[in-house]
Amino acid sequence: MEEITIKKLLEKYEFVMWDRFVESNEFIFIYGWIERPKDDYKDFILLQINKATQKFHVITSSEERHKEIFDIVDMGTPPNCQRVEFKWDIKNATDLCKRCGLCCKGCKYLKHLPDGTTECSVYDTRLGRKTGIGNEICQKRINVKKHYKGCPYNKFIDLPKGLNTSSK
Ligand code: SF4
Ligand code: SF4
Repeated sequence: MEEITIKKLLEKYEFVMWDRFVESNEFIFIYGWIERPKDDYKDFILLQINKATQKFHVITSSEERHKEIFDIVDMGTPPNCQRVEFKWDIKNATDLCKRCGLCCKGCKYLKHLPDGTTECSVYDTRLGRKTGIGNEICQKRINVKKHYKGCPYNKFIDLPKGLNTSSK
């Protein structure tokens, strides 16, 4: 691919602020950020260009621009963007929990903090990841098919398995 073609491709994504790139023998990876007016976060976008075939691939965390992003590179059906916390139970993954404690209400291990939030005295990665009520065995929040007022996970529990898309 000629440099000018990559330049034009980058410019087509006028809503992206491109940031860095890595170039290997086979690929060029270019990533950037997409402003998200509804909150203080940004979505990422990663563009992969195969130097030999001149084919593009793109991944993004953006829900709002999802279709638009994939239409630009004409990739067909876009792959789902999934949350790391739903797949791997690790501490160093972002979560959406507001620490309201509603999903663990009544549990003796639920600690109420002075700032009005809560935490679990058993599980490091509970709120947002694990929950249980009364004598139920604590399980991942995504597997608890209940809505709690204001809980960001409500929207995920109605989705078919494998379609847990979205970022914050
Ligand atoms: S997972 Fe939801 S309901 Fe449970 S503590 Fe977090 S925000 Fe509250
Ligand atoms: S995750 Fe389980 S042990 Fe921890 S507060 Fe919630 S219900 Fe209690």
